[in-house]
Amino acid sequence: MPAIDRELETLAVERDADGLVRLTFTVPGHRQNVLTGRAIEELSHALDHLAAEPPRGVILLSGRTGSFFAGADVSRLEELGTLPAAEVADLCDRGKAVFARLTASFPTAAVIDGVCLGGGLELALACDLRVATSERHTSIGLPEVKLGLMPGWGGTVRLARLIGPGPAVELAGSGEPIDGPAAARRGVVDACVPAAEAVESARRLLALRSEDGFIAARRRRMAGPADLDPMEREFLEATTAAVILGRTGGHYPAPPAILRTILAGASVDAATASRLESQAFAKLAATPVARNLLRVFSIGERNRRDAGVDAASGGEPMPAIAPAIVGAGIMGAGIAASHLRAGVPVTVVDVNPEALAVSVPGILEEAAWDRLAKRVDEARAVELAGRLRTATSLAALAAADIVMESVTERPDVKQQVLAEIERTVGPDTVITTNTSTNPIGRLAAGLADPSRFCGLHFFNPVRRMTLVEVIRGPATSDATVARAVAHAKRLGKCPVVVNDSPGFLVNRVLMPYLHEAGELLREGVPAERLDRIARGFGMPLGPIELYDMIGLDTAFYAGLVLSAAYGDRIEASPVIPALVKAGKLGRKTAAGFYRYSEAGPHGRIVGREDKAAEVITRYAHLPRESSDRTVVDRLFLPMLLEALRVLDEGLVRDSRDIDLAVIHALGFPAFRGGLLAWGDSLGATEVVRRLELLGELGARMKPTERLLAHASSGRPFTG
Ligand code: NAD
Repeated sequence: MPAIDRELETLAVERDADGLVRLTFTVPGHRQNVLTGRAIEELSHALDHLAAEPPRGVILLSGRTGSFFAGADVSRLEELGTLPAAEVADLCDRGKAVFARLTASFPTAAVIDGVCLGGGLELALACDLRVATSERHTSIGLPEVKLGLMPGWGGTVRLARLIGPGPAVELAGSGEPIDGPAAARRGVVDACVPAAEAVESARRLLALRSEDGFIAARRRRMAGPADLDPMEREFLEATTAAVILGRTGGHYPAPPAILRTILAGASVDAATASRLESQAFAKLAATPVARNLLRVFSIGERNRRDAGVDAASGGEPMPAIAPAIVGAGIMGAGIAASHLRAGVPVTVVDVNPEALAVSVPGILEEAAWDRLAKRVDEARAVELAGRLRTATSLAALAAADIVMESVTERPDVKQQVLAEIERTVGPDTVITTNTSTNPIGRLAAGLADPSRFCGLHFFNPVRRMTLVEVIRGPATSDATVARAVAHAKRLGKCPVVVNDSPGFLVNRVLMPYLHEAGELLREGVPAERLDRIARGFGMPLGPIELYDMIGLDTAFYAGLVLSAAYGDRIEASPVIPALVKAGKLGRKTAAGFYRYSEAGPHGRIVGREDKAAEVITRYAHLPRESSDRTVVDRLFLPMLLEALRVLDEGLVRDSRDIDLAVIHALGFPAFRGGLLAWGDSLGATEVVRRLELLGELGARMKPTERLLAHASSGRPFTG
């Protein structure tokens, strides 16, 4: 083979003695291989070069262990929403033209070891054959739908022909990845073998399948229409469409667009289907939902790169090697499990041996939960048990370099535990608290060195809520913040640094929502209707269901702190303490606003709780106008106002942190882009107009100066 005529940055071309060529990708400047414009252009150049003297076969593989291709270059994706549709479709077509050359002459195979997502899978699908590895790190899927998009480099076209339109809709429409063995079972790959055997397996498969005519037959099949009998078409058109509607609540245009595109593409040849795909992709890229999801994604990426402090003082903080948690309750257990999942050994201390005995099996099960197989991996649980150390005495913390206090929410208990932690650990240990409501400054009062202390506030359930608030107390040092942020990231969390103030960021923004829901109940709006309207807006739970999940006792104590601080707009409701007094604490007692089939997180709602109905009637307000629109405005506009006050007070370092926080801690709908982006979708002037209509509700609906300034300047909240 003549030497390639220029230096390639992203791939190496090597020809073996037996006439096979290996194209090994290692894309610089990224943690994972991503399909940058440069990588695609160099692939094209390498294919030109090979065409001059066609090899017996070509194997595409990655030079990075654990990463075949993570997808397209997402740093460029956000631009898509700003380009005209024709230009976007053209971008798709250009990538497709390069990929199409992988089946134009010599046989090709992809060796998939590690992450193979989005454009990465489309590249692999463009080859004649695929060999995946059976390693734990191999994960294969089309997650574009999660960004409001769909595959745009032939993924829907090739997958529908390879595995059938129904399974293709499932894989591309859900965005969920599968592992190597599952990909082999479904026919996405032709073989699944251990990593050490993968290249050899691809080599043998290429030789065999070139000779027996399989590749030529597959190429013919892939170029024609997809197999879709009328019954399957009918099922996809009706049942699958209904399932998608149920899953997305009609808020996400991408899954139905994927279904429509695959159905339309199934009855035509692949070239026509490919054009349909490009057009559908371009149309989706222009939707507000895709723009919002791409923005949320890029805010998340920015968060991943942010050290949490403005001046990068002293470089990367040393990773904690001996983290410890004090308190093995709901939260302590969840935090411990997230350590083990992230491969970080951890010590858990609880004064109560029974609390430890109850929480250890739960910690191990959660940590060893296999998401792809949807069950606990028992062997992994046994392995992880060796990395979980438990103790009933704080003396076990002596060697810890970061301690996360998560004991009962009582300031006196916390102060005492924190002081004892400080006496036990070394002088450089970072000490954090998971308090939901106590000011960090107050908890720091008993510490000799408050500069090493901050809040590290996780959300319930820890496994699902990725946000962590890192709360900077008045004396907290930059180094402490940076170490807490680095530790949260190591757990795969999304840390947002906030200044100390009652409710910090998330609970403060949540408070007006819960408060308003309580007021609406007292005006006679049924709980079920409030929950339905909030879910319809896109919240995962309505406010009344949320009260019951948080626990009315917890809500009561948090409410006391928040109404003491923000009493002009948040009056403590008499309904909550009356229910607490009656022992109706929500899910944990199988009764709160609703009655449940059993106590705990798995109970089903079986009806309205009579005691709640009685208490609400006792404290009833006069009814008001309560159209669905008014209810949405009353629930969400005060949250927006509170977010603007948070900005006024300089509690966050960047306004984008607010959108990130409400999405990752409260489940605020990502398709709306977060609270501020939702405000922008209305426009500040419209927000003011709607608040004026609610003016008689008092201070809590009063536009703030900042809002009025946005209305008069026309500047967006997300600017
Ligand atoms: P929990 O009651 O389930 O657990 C508290 C644990 O602390 C118990 O196991 C108790 O035995 C232990 N403990 C008490 N005193 C101790 C001591 N002196 N030394 C060692 N262990 C001690 O409470 P939780 O819900 O896990 O909450 C813990 C913290 O997390 C609180 O500060 C709470 O406000 C905060 N938080 C809770 C939630 C939530 O939804 N539950 C969410 C975010 C933050």
